[in-house]
Amino acid sequence: MTTTSAEPAAASAIPKPNQPDEAQKSNANDQDQNQKISQKKVHIPKPKYRLHAEDLRHPESASFSTYIPDVATTLDTALSNIVKYLYTSPETGSPVDVKSAPKCKRPHFVPFIPPTRSVTLFLRDFGGVAYTTGTELDDAHKEIHLSLPYITHCKNSAAKADPVHELAGVLTHELVHCYQHTSPPDSAKGGKDTPGPPGGLIEGIADFVRLKAGLSPPHWTRPTSSSQREKKWDAGYQHTAYFLAWIEDVWAGEGAVGMLNDRLFRVGYVGEGAEDEANGHEGGFWKSLFGAGVAELWDEYGQWLDDGEKAKGNWEEEIVNPV
Ligand SMILES: [Zn+2]
Repeated sequence: MTTTSAEPAAASAIPKPNQPDEAQKSNANDQDQNQKISQKKVHIPKPKYRLHAEDLRHPESASFSTYIPDVATTLDTALSNIVKYLYTSPETGSPVDVKSAPKCKRPHFVPFIPPTRSVTLFLRDFGGVAYTTGTELDDAHKEIHLSLPYITHCKNSAAKADPVHELAGVLTHELVHCYQHTSPPDSAKGGKDTPGPPGGLIEGIADFVRLKAGLSPPHWTRPTSSSQREKKWDAGYQHTAYFLAWIEDVWAGEGAVGMLNDRLFRVGYVGEGAEDEANGHEGGFWKSLFGAGVAELWDEYGQWLDDGEKAKGNWEEEIVNPV
């Protein structure tokens, strides 16, 4: 396969109904310049972090502080990765290295990071791994609940997990939920009925960041053929994460998943008018972003897996050792 240069995406490719960012108010002449500046100036948020250890007599409360002695630094590292992989748009005019998608527009967007003001980490005794919620009064305050018994599981040699690596991975996944977009901010108001994305896409984006951050756990395996994949693209978690990584690294180029996340915020899980009419809202969403519906992308991904190692170059190496 040859390397082709995809057409730069027009700024108008991403509708911006909410106008959240001052940079977007600039006129067309200096828009390019502003986009370069916004790309360079994306700052890493500094939310308030709080730690709530619910049961200090639980033996894993002490284990947690041994494995993650500096919670703020661990969360700040996760936040840097979230900004890097979801909120950094490639600079206009930089070289494009897209191998197989001449019909796909080059990823571009103006990043808008959700205004999450605080993240409270709860260490609690419950079954499962972890989950994230907003607080009842104000969704800008998030809570990550981490299971203390899960730390026991991480220490069990049968799990083959490195507890520090695993806990950093779980916290990164959960912190993505504190900072990812799922729908336009006004979609719940005014009787609007904007379709929401499947849960598998939301979980896949969280694990995409975890994968890119080099924090995938030992039980994840990237499929090496189409028959090894899950049956559906939105199976979620690592299954969807590997598909998203293929879209970013092979199909559309750097910034593709960030652009997808951005579109969920600006217009929701829908496409542009004519594409929606022809393909339905889900088909329109993917086609307007990547030039193909999600079923076609899933087929292309399967074909690419089946094409074998020769065609893949060092893609996997880039994923495992992100730069
Ligand atoms: Zn999740």
